[in-house]
Amino acid sequence: MTYQNFSLKQLQDIDAAHHLHPFTDHKDLRDAGTRIVTHAKGAFVYDTEDNEILDGMAGLWCVNIGYGRDELAEVAYEQMKELPYYNSFFRCSTPAPVLLAQKLAQLAPDNVNQVFYGSSGSESNDTALRLVRHYWALEGKPEKNVIISRKQAYHGSTVAGTSLGGMEAMHGQLGGAVPNIEHVMPPYAFELKEEGESDHDFGVRAAKAVEDAILAAGPEKVAAFIGEPVMGAGGVKIPPESYWPEIDRICKKYDVLLMLDEVITGYGRTGEWFAAQRLGLKPDTITTAKALTSGYQPLSALLVGDRIANTLVEKGGEFFHGYTYSGHPVACAVALKNIEIIEKEGLVERVREETGPYFANALSEKIAPHALVGEVRSFGLMGAIEIVKDKGTRERFAGGGAAGVAVRDAAISENLMLRAVGDTMILSPPLIWTRETIDMCCERILK
Ligand code: PLP
Repeated sequence: MTYQNFSLKQLQDIDAAHHLHPFTDHKDLRDAGTRIVTHAKGAFVYDTEDNEILDGMAGLWCVNIGYGRDELAEVAYEQMKELPYYNSFFRCSTPAPVLLAQKLAQLAPDNVNQVFYGSSGSESNDTALRLVRHYWALEGKPEKNVIISRKQAYHGSTVAGTSLGGMEAMHGQLGGAVPNIEHVMPPYAFELKEEGESDHDFGVRAAKAVEDAILAAGPEKVAAFIGEPVMGAGGVKIPPESYWPEIDRICKKYDVLLMLDEVITGYGRTGEWFAAQRLGLKPDTITTAKALTSGYQPLSALLVGDRIANTLVEKGGEFFHGYTYSGHPVACAVALKNIEIIEKEGLVERVREETGPYFANALSEKIAPHALVGEVRSFGLMGAIEIVKDKGTRERFAGGGAAGVAVRDAAISENLMLRAVGDTMILSPPLIWTRETIDMCCERILK
């Protein structure tokens, strides 16, 4: 499709007249003007002015194999010609979702063998919430329906996703969340660790907040704990190493299911197919989306552990839940090809052995010494840079995130796309980045 008959100004005017954007202050957008991205190749996106912008966010944490992959376009075209759509309801299916489910079961932790499809991470978290509560009802414990989550967590933007998430601003506009979801402190050492407290002790304390919430609600009432292995949209908050083993222990102790939200961390970003494997966890549900298709098609897959799946199959009867596009054949065909490319190019191993460590080192050696940087951290190819006014005391700038927005806009004018969460700068590069691209990113940050 070509947009060359339209000037940037025309597109901006039409955009302002008709298009409501996600997570956007529209007055502000109209003043600033929309940046229109028209095409992309490899690690770069291009706008109407033909600026070549290094995409440090892989779109929105999703374009893991980079842009311009002909094989994905071809497989989508072939599938559309052969069978653009048929559903997976009423004792039917199509080949692509069947074969993708088998592939995902092979890649997932060994207790996870079933897949329920949606079109977005939010939808899949809705499925996860319903499935977990349904599981306990089928087990004769319908009162075991409280979910423990964390403040600042992001689990999507539907009513269920927002309710599971811990974003105050989102809850503020919800007009009533899904009941029985409790939020505890996030494992965010940079701001919440106390004077003299070790990382280890902080991780144990943050996990203890989950145990306290279970005890406050009564373990017989708590269905599950949900968490992102690394909190992504909340600011790449990486828990201390002590955190997840403690969470695992606590969940087992009180027979609380473990729900991992791997919408960002899934499909290689952490140097394993799933962060669950890197952390040695065997979750009951794993929510995945985004990089499942590298963003080339909207698709999500809730990976369901044997414990829940067996009960659902054996005792469940009909599960009254699903979406028209659950198991969409085109999206599933694209996902299969995407996974084939990740395997063929060894991208997961590359993150684990080469680019992940190189990225960590580049952030520490090149970015951390800067006078306005209070901390850098990374986990595979997810990174964060904390912007502070005073490096010694870690005092933030006044303006509640204005510094982060200024850094982000300065980076874009240096042709680097990164994201600001308050004054935390976020990076989530495509897995195809090389040492050279990582160096280029650091140079542009420092300009
Ligand atoms: N969960 C996590 C951890 C996410 O980061 C996101 C999106 O960024 C979602 C869920 C929601 O996914 P979607 O935007 O596809 O609905």
